[in-house]
This record gives sequence, C-alpha cells and structure tokens, in this order.
Amino acid sequence: MTVLPRPSVLSIEPYVGGEAHLPGVNRVIKLSSNEGPFGPPPGAIEAIRNAAAEAHRYPDGGAEALRAALGARWGLDPARIVCGNGSDELIALLILAYGGEGTEIVMSAHGFLMYDLAGRWAGSRVIKVPEKNLTADVDGMIAACGPRTKLVFLANPNNPTGSILPQAELDRLRAGLRDDILLVLDSAYAEYVTLPGYDAGATLVDASGTTVMTRTFSKIFGMGGMRLGWAYAPAPVVDVLNRIRGPFNVNAIAMAAGIAALAEPGWIEKSVAHNETWRAKLSAGLEAAGIKVWPSQGNFVLADFGTPARAQAADLALRKRGLIVRAMGAYGLAPCLRITVGTAEENALVIDALAGFMAAHG
Ligand SMILES: *Cc1c(COP(=O)(O)O)cnc(C)c1O
Repeated sequence: MTVLPRPSVLSIEPYVGGEAHLPGVNRVIKLSSNEGPFGPPPGAIEAIRNAAAEAHRYPDGGAEALRAALGARWGLDPARIVCGNGSDELIALLILAYGGEGTEIVMSAHGFLMYDLAGRWAGSRVIKVPEKNLTADVDGMIAACGPRTKLVFLANPNNPTGSILPQAELDRLRAGLRDDILLVLDSAYAEYVTLPGYDAGATLVDASGTTVMTRTFSKIFGMGGMRLGWAYAPAPVVDVLNRIRGPFNVNAIAMAAGIAALAEPGWIEKSVAHNETWRAKLSAGLEAAGIKVWPSQGNFVLADFGTPARAQAADLALRKRGLIVRAMGAYGLAPCLRITVGTAEENALVIDALAGFMAAHG
C-alpha cells in the first residue's frame, strides 16, 4: 500500500472497548464499561420500539426536540446545546475544529483515552500531565500549556480514576488558562456525583465563554448502545460544531430514546441511590480482602493490586467466574482494574471472587 494517511494517524492504537464475551463461559457479567446496572429506562425502550416504524425518515438534523428536552431538564438554553453520536463524537469534533497539526492538547496523565486518540487523529501533540494521588494537578496542567496549546481536557469525575476536582479548583484552572485555550469539561458521570457544591460545568461555560461541557446518555441512562451525547457550549463554539458535524449525526431512534429517558420518573434518583450504596459496599468488601480501592465519584471503582502481575492474576480469577472488568494498562495504571458498580448480585460475586483470590494469592 503506497497511499498513506497523515503520519499521526498511524500512531493511534485502535481503541479496545470493554470485553463482552469469554470463551467457554455461558453467563458473562460485564462490568467493564460503566454502563449502568439497570439497562435503559423502560420509557426509552418503549420509545425505541415506537421509533422503529419511522426509521425510513431522516432524523431532525437540528435535534430540536431533544435539545428542548435537555434544556428543560437541566435548566440550559437549548440554543447552546449540540447533540452528538455519543459524547465521543463531540470530543473528536472539538479537537478537529480547534486542534490539528502544530497545536497541543493538554490532559491529565490518567485522563480519558479518547482525548489522546482524537488528538492524534487531528495531528495535535498530546501532553499528559502527571497527577497527584491519581487526581488531576491544576498547577501542572496550567504549567504544561504553551503558545501552541489550543485545548485542555478534564473529565470530572475522571474515568478511570474516579477522582474529582472541587469547583474552586476548576475555577482556578480556567483562570490560569489563556482566553485562546478551550477548556473541555467532560462530565460523563455528572449525574452520579454527590460531592456538595459540585457543578457539572454549566456555570463555568457561562462565566468564561471559553469552556465547553460534554455529557452522555451512556452511563446513568444506560444507553451506551444508542450512542447519544451532548455538549453545552458558548455560542461561537456551538456555531463551529454545527458547521462540522454530520448533518444527521444523531439518529432518530437515539433521539426518541433520549427524550424518553429524560422523562423517566425517578430514574436518576434510583440510580444514584443504588450507586452510593453499592459503590461503598463494593469498596468496603474489596478493602476487607486487602485490596486498595481509590475513592470514586463515578459508577465504578479503581482497585489497586500493587503490581501489574497481581492485577493480571486477579483479572484471570474474575474471568474464570465469568466476571469481566477492565484492565488498565492502556491508561498507564497496569497494577489496577476498573470495576463497574453492578447489580447487588453482581457486586457480591465480584467481592466473593476477589476475596477468594486474595486469600489464595494475597
Ligand atoms: C464513557 C465516557 C465517555 C463517552 O461517552 P459516549 O457518550 O458513550 O461517547 C466520555 N467521557 C468519559 C470520561 C467517559 O467515561
């Protein structure tokens, strides 16, 4: 093959998603992609069924009804919302629009992988800033910005570490960045956060004019398979995203499901309550077995086995029992496994399997 892509494209390692199958195991429990333990909201399933009959029609390219529903649900101006085929698409579009050859993107060392992948796709140099205690270092991120920096990415809470920065730190980060640097706050886990004073990012978007918040239906709404995300952004960024996105980037069935999910009574409350209870029990169970668990504000925990070999052996022990969690080598956290908070039964199985593993190998 003599037709080559831009060199930076070939530096990308293809994204490996959470696995879903294990050879020889018939009941697999998938706790590898933070998908929410309850499936999609019942109203969303119904909406998906109903929308199927209209699948011959092109979707509303402006996502008018969904943006109106999002605006009403979260108290935001629908005109400042852009919907995407998953928030991954919006992250990539922001990078393609503002990054590219000759620019730099700053992220924290164990930040979400998509920023790195899309950054390379665009041809940007991606700078990963060391963290403190598996938490983003605001001063380090500010110091890492140079004249070529165009974008700074921060997931808050962060996946896969679960760590969170308080609002004062976010304000300090924004204040420390030049006005020609776009700060992207990825709030994929916002609905789960119980930290007092937490703001998913809208306040900073409005106050700064140079900040974007991204959100998703893939986590608390259990709709990862629908591919639906959205961004809340200053008007000039909305304009840019609307110029470069596909005219029908969000499909009609996903939009119908999203509107129904937002209207599902008690869904968020039920999910948060379950997550609070079981994240604590899962953490306590693993810690009682002698495993370090990092504090998390998401619907997952990062279990730290101390060495890559021990994490790998633990992963194998889980797999033997049909439990799939996420290995963390790609995130520079090879001694750790990321475990999604599942149903009560699933969590109990994880605790039991890892307690057994530690008793044998600890
Ligand atoms: C899951 C996740 C996303 C991706 O969400 P999609 O809307 O499914 O593309 C974005 N950011 C973080 C931090 C995530 O964990």
